[in-house]
Amino acid sequence: MQEDSDRSPIGDESMIIPIRCFTCGYPIGAVWEEFVKRVRAGEDPAKVLDELGIKRYCCRRILISHVELVREVMYFTKKS
Ligand SMILES: [Zn+2]
Repeated sequence: MQEDSDRSPIGDESMIIPIRCFTCGYPIGAVWEEFVKRVRAGEDPAKVLDELGIKRYCCRRILISHVELVREVMYFTKKS
């Protein structure tokens, strides 16, 4: 497998995040890129989520715990 040591544990901007919260349906996909950018810049994730208006813990857990797996899946795509 290809080395991905430069990858952030919170993913990158090409991530696939759920568009809406699984539990309440609030649209969370729109704030993902800003969330990642600000957390990478060193801001406190809890404060960033507050400022982005993500109040419910059902939505917060998705953004905080999301792990990007698309690069791993890409190894198994059909080459044409
Ligand atoms: Zn929610």
